[in-house]
Amino acid sequence: MNNKKHVIVVGAGIAGLASALRLLATGARVSVFEAASAPGGKMRTVPSTAGPVDAGPTVLTMRWVFEDLFAAVGETLNDHVTLTKADTIARHFWPDGTAMDLCADPLQSHANVRNTFGTAAAREFDAFSARAKRLFTAFDAPMMQASTPSSLGLAKTVLRDPALLLAMAPHKTLSGLLKSSFTEPKLRQLFGRYATYVGGSPYESPALLSLIWHAESTGVWAVKGGMHQLATAMTDLIHAKGGSIHFGCPVSLIEPAPIGLVVKTVDREVNADAVVFNGDPRALTEGALGDEIRNCVPVAGVDPRSLSANVMAFAATPKGHALSHHNVFFGDDPLNEFGPLSKGKNPTNPTLYVCAQDRGGGLKPAGPERFEIIMNAPPCQSNDQRNEQDATRCQKLIFNRLAQMGLTFAPKPDATMLTTPADFHAMFPHSLGSLYGRSPHGMTAGLKRPTARTAVKGLYLAGGGAHPGAGVPMATFSAKHAVEAIKTDLGLT
Ligand SMILES: Cc1cc2nc3c(=O)[nH]c(=O)nc-3n(C[C@H](O)[C@H](O)[C@H](O)COP(=O)(O)OP(=O)(O)OC[C@H]3O[C@@H](n4cnc5c(N)ncnc54)[C@H](O)[C@@H]3O)c2cc1C
Repeated sequence: MNNKKHVIVVGAGIAGLASALRLLATGARVSVFEAASAPGGKMRTVPSTAGPVDAGPTVLTMRWVFEDLFAAVGETLNDHVTLTKADTIARHFWPDGTAMDLCADPLQSHANVRNTFGTAAAREFDAFSARAKRLFTAFDAPMMQASTPSSLGLAKTVLRDPALLLAMAPHKTLSGLLKSSFTEPKLRQLFGRYATYVGGSPYESPALLSLIWHAESTGVWAVKGGMHQLATAMTDLIHAKGGSIHFGCPVSLIEPAPIGLVVKTVDREVNADAVVFNGDPRALTEGALGDEIRNCVPVAGVDPRSLSANVMAFAATPKGHALSHHNVFFGDDPLNEFGPLSKGKNPTNPTLYVCAQDRGGGLKPAGPERFEIIMNAPPCQSNDQRNEQDATRCQKLIFNRLAQMGLTFAPKPDATMLTTPADFHAMFPHSLGSLYGRSPHGMTAGLKRPTARTAVKGLYLAGGGAHPGAGVPMATFSAKHAVEAIKTDLGLT
């Protein structure tokens, strides 16, 4: 019976691909409809003189999520992508010339913190790392692994281990926790940046987000050929297992039918027993996929929005600093970055993340190499379109800031290599350019994201806008929740 069920996946982002793979393993017939001409969604590349350069995610953490996915479909991750663990998690540069690496080896990180900021700072670093680990371990099961996390589930976790409450610091923001954890402002700034991994400001995100540091400290992997190779490998596997993917095929309507749902594209109307929607769930609440399903998730599950970004992706020859694969050039003061961002404005003194995609393991390419630079930005308005003057202003700001901190590029890329929040809004409809779904601000934000099973029978969500949230591993994990729900509801094995 199983192979007669037809499941349509709308979107070939990482969670759409992961859903398709897991569904194929149940014996279902799987069709993926993707609006773009390539898989990966935000995990995309743009052309450069040195080859395709990643223009989306660059930091791959929580390797076990991908091992689990490939194992669930009878495969081994290593057979499909080559992952290399980075010795240096990230190289950090401050405007006063201070530089410091955080490393895969915790003892090396400890030594680097001690040598840069002193013995007391290194002790504070150890205590903060232990807290992050404790929180990650405690909340993995009741949050990430739970299909429907609830206050009750969290309360039970805390009741079992009341001291956790102290570690959670539920009354504090991440910034508040960092203030009480670190004497050194630079370390507060460094660890505050982890809120941006899920599109938040450390001044408004809960202290619990400190657990993101633990996810990163357990390992950052580089994918041979770039992050996009992961999406390519998953696409190849879907084809090999009999799934079909239709690119350049935006879905315009999802409607309940007497049995299952009907999915409409410009040139076809297809019936499905279930549909996994991998686009931004805000598109559903906006009625973009039809009025009949617009109430399938609560508006509070998609609004307010998380941060967007201005992203440069290009090839050039760098000069001035010994770069690692992941580099962070901090602004003068985090308040000068997150203050304007919270008011919907671009910061004039931003922190800039620089990914030197071709570096790692001591490698330094001889000729031009590939770079991605990310500057956090506020989400845009629904009618915003790319504005060339703003794009040029942003491009100048990025390269002037880096030049002030001693890093230059030849040739200096122009604004045509910049993706703006309005561009992201156009690529990911109704997202307002937000890259991480609903904002993580507020103490209960993690409980507000929509879960995999929606209020419309047969319609499920998978992706960074759904539980357990944004980031490549989390979005990939959301597919597990969606497919488990479908298996139960359709009686698949
Ligand atoms: C610049 C940038 C840097 C990032 N850095 C990191 C990082 O270092 N590490 C990390 O873990 N995460 C990072 N992220 C976040 C991460 O990329 C995302 O959380 C994750 O890729 C989202 O995957 P998703 O499955 O939600 O799908 P998305 O990538 O959002 O893709 C959704 C897909 O659905 C398609 N779609 C939508 N609507 C329709 C429709 N109606 N019909 C057909 N197709 C449709 C879209 O075209 C798209 O391909 C970054 C994101 C960006 C943009």
